[in-house]
Amino acid sequence: MDDTPLILIVDDDRLTRTHLRRRLESEGYQVEEAEDGRQALEAYARLRPDVVLLDIIMPIMDGFACCAQLQKLQMSGMSDPTQTHGFAQKTQDYLMVSTPVLMITALEDQQSVDQAFEVGAVDYFTKPIHWALLRCRVRRLIQQGQLYRQLEDTNQKLEEVNQMLQRLASVDGLTQVANRRCFDEMLIYQWQSTSREQEPLSLIFVDIDYFKRYNDTYGHLAGDKCLKQVAQALSKTMGRPTDLVARYGGEEFVMLLPGINLAGANQVAEAIQAAMKRLDVAHASSPLGAKMTLSLGISCLYPSQHSSPITLIKLADKALYLAKESGRDRICTLTP
Ligand code: GH3
Ligand code: MG
Ligand code: MG
Repeated sequence: MDDTPLILIVDDDRLTRTHLRRRLESEGYQVEEAEDGRQALEAYARLRPDVVLLDIIMPIMDGFACCAQLQKLQMSGMSDPTQTHGFAQKTQDYLMVSTPVLMITALEDQQSVDQAFEVGAVDYFTKPIHWALLRCRVRRLIQQGQLYRQLEDTNQKLEEVNQMLQRLASVDGLTQVANRRCFDEMLIYQWQSTSREQEPLSLIFVDIDYFKRYNDTYGHLAGDKCLKQVAQALSKTMGRPTDLVARYGGEEFVMLLPGINLAGANQVAEAIQAAMKRLDVAHASSPLGAKMTLSLGISCLYPSQHSSPITLIKLADKALYLAKESGRDRICTLTP
């Protein structure tokens, strides 16, 4: 891509245009011309120049109207992922750095100067053009634009890295479901949220039966693969965007279901068991029919500001213990 800065000259006087073009080209810039405000808008939209030099008195559309329109174009372009000339922009708000417009005109009265700045010009030059000054001003504006875009680019990259770190901090590496930390945070959040809304909060503990024997029989790698399969099956049974599956530790998973009552949580648990049956994972050393099975413990309560999420965890954990004790491969429920 050509990185040479592009300057758009807008003037109805051909001699002025030619003069400016020669000067600017000798400075190493690319130059495009427009003869009136309307042409300027068209050229701006097509070329996205880095700087616009704008005459005021022109036929069809004068410099004031044109400058005002240019500001509008830039505002509407803010969500437009096209590119500013010479700089590939990944950010959506790249046009936050607007193309600077310099007024170059024969008008010297205070009112014209005021109006020029009102419609968004960044500088004002009277004819005959003080070339040395204009040259410095143009160069500085282009440098500022480049710096600003680099900054935007860096910000964007930082944002991406932050998101990645956030993700790494909340996702379990092996199973790719939420990790314990994420669950702990979400539990507190949903506890407060359901307490406010006076809605139930359900929790399901899911534990693989005889998983130690599975590892011993098939090896740790096969065990890992199985954990991934179970995590995936659990994820698929999630119905609502607020449901959360997390790896609680080892071969134990949790499902947090805000706004779901006991009957609803039971349905989810049944769906998990059905999904596990469909997965049909062989487990030769399991006394439960040589298939991989799960034990589930459910609890459900209406959170309040006076009770603690630990109550919910203790109940679900106890329910899971009951499921294990009473023969595994089953669902047990405990409520306060
Ligand atoms: P129970 O039916 O009572 O739950 O018996 P269990 O063997 O499943 O339970 P136990 O807690 O005795 O053993 C859990 C096993 O899970 C032991 C451990 O090696 C295995 N495990 C924990 N984390 C991982 C892991 O990340 N990968 C693999 N492959 N195994 C794991
Ligand atoms: Mg187990
Ligand atoms: Mg366990």
